[in-house]
Amino acid sequence: ASGYSLLRDPHHNKGLAFTEKERDAHYLRGLLPPTVISQELQVKKMMWSIRQYQVPLQKYMAMMDLQELNERLYYKLLIDNVEELLPVVYTPTVGEACQKYGSIFRRPQGLFISLKEKGKIHEVLRNWPQKNIQVIVVTDGERILGLGDLGCQGMGIPIGKLSLYTALGGVRPSACLPITIDVGTNNEQLLNDEFYIGLRQRRATGQEYAELMNEFMTAVKQNYGEKVLIQFEDFANHNAFDLLAKYGTTHLVFNDDIQGTASVVLAGLVAALKVVGGTLADHRFLFLGAGEAGTGIAELIALEISKQTNMPLEEARKKISLVDSKGLIVKSRVDSLQHFKKPWAHDHEPIQKLVDAVNGIKPTVLIGTSGVGRTFTKEVVEAMAALNDKPIIFSLSNPTSQSECTAEEAYTWSKGRAIFASGSPFDPVEYKGRVFVPGQANNAYIFPGFGLGLIMSGAIRVHDDMLLAASEALAAQVTQENFDKGLIYPPFKNIRKISAHIAANVAAKAYELGLATRHPQPKDLVKYAESCMYSPVYQSYR
Ligand code: NAP
Ligand code: MN
Repeated sequence: ASGYSLLRDPHHNKGLAFTEKERDAHYLRGLLPPTVISQELQVKKMMWSIRQYQVPLQKYMAMMDLQELNERLYYKLLIDNVEELLPVVYTPTVGEACQKYGSIFRRPQGLFISLKEKGKIHEVLRNWPQKNIQVIVVTDGERILGLGDLGCQGMGIPIGKLSLYTALGGVRPSACLPITIDVGTNNEQLLNDEFYIGLRQRRATGQEYAELMNEFMTAVKQNYGEKVLIQFEDFANHNAFDLLAKYGTTHLVFNDDIQGTASVVLAGLVAALKVVGGTLADHRFLFLGAGEAGTGIAELIALEISKQTNMPLEEARKKISLVDSKGLIVKSRVDSLQHFKKPWAHDHEPIQKLVDAVNGIKPTVLIGTSGVGRTFTKEVVEAMAALNDKPIIFSLSNPTSQSECTAEEAYTWSKGRAIFASGSPFDPVEYKGRVFVPGQANNAYIFPGFGLGLIMSGAIRVHDDMLLAASEALAAQVTQENFDKGLIYPPFKNIRKISAHIAANVAAKAYELGLATRHPQPKDLVKYAESCMYSPVYQSYR
């Protein structure tokens, strides 16, 4: 290959880091300025240049450009500066990128499969240059973050999530495939936007939708075999639960919005109990919001309680109550409930207001997953603080503006007694001379390590026990020093190590359940996980 094309190949380009010998051997003389610099200096220079941008979206675009120019440098940057760059390549900035995807769109970085490709999905997959795919993240764009239906422009999400699979979980970039399924959009603004890149029609539903998804799922298995992980991402809840149930028995599927969220929140609870005391079964849980996140978390808590106590799952579920937009979920509403809410319809009088539900149910743990901000009012937090010495309060809704309450509100209204975590990041809060550092229940703690654990064991199905294994591994990474600051999640800068521990625990569970196909089982799974992880350090070309 010519030096000129080498510089334009993101998988091999090193820019100014090509050595003198490489410049001679690969026809690069004259195509680069004379200086030779290290990858470390390149990282420093790129960080400097990204920090020059004030607008987050510009930082995002600079990162995307780098990914297309020099893949290893992109991942080195992301790994070495994870706390600073995560909000750029992922939420919240990726949300804005999706909203404007039509106008910032440059080169496609993933596969678009629309209704036009019906009957041809097998061939579409073969158009992708990489053949050894280990993880697919797929969205249909109907519920992008908290932003709603962004149709085909949801593509930013699979791309961003897969960047994190590589940076945080060490999955090789060439083994990752972002896919957007385009069945139309119900977003009027996009339908009328001349720059919109997707199909200009309202969403296909019912059989038409199911058939396209089915062709897709079949084609994926045909092309990549049984061990490819398919992560469903940002599907609306009326499809998400059904897809997971339907394909969970035939494919290796994982829904991060339901299962990943559940696992990361359970980890936070397990860690919080080390501060608050008692076992999960000793606690009483109330949720505001009964969608993918809320019912997903509730179900995993119930499962863990039932495992720990040998209590039937139905009994364990009674320790958990959920409030949706129509009030407390109770028996009398059961006929009109969506199926994923039915297990939570307990015997109780109807209650409309959250504060009344708090006083009626007397929870020790309050979790917000409604997507609606300002709903944990002073009255609600004070009620929790009146009932509990150390109330556990999680405000998980994103973005920051939708958080049920801020960290400052949680700490001040509870007089410094709340154990608080949130979906979006909050700065540390000083209250009466003490500094509280709120934990962020970020899904990025779990899914990269979870995926790595599946891949390295050659798992062929996801089992709920693997989610529990991931939660335990994450909770075990919280140190006394972290607890002392009020943290119930470990610092993100250690994420590669955290991911390796999660992967090892998940893989161990896969072996135990007979769902692993990679034999023999490696002796030290943590070491093995670390040895599997992609390194972004340049290789030398002879
Ligand atoms: P979803 O499936 O649409 O569920 C939203 C739920 O909230 C529904 O049950 C809805 O009620 C309920 N709701 C809406 N408005 C309400 C109100 N005013 N009062 C009470 N309940 C209300 O959405 P999701 O996927 O679960 O996500 C929900 C939120 O969680 C989002 O903001 C998301 O960003 C956040 N989240 C955070 C994390 C994290 O922290 N790691 C992870 C995942 C999601 P109906 O069912 O009656 O419509
Ligand atoms: Mn998501």
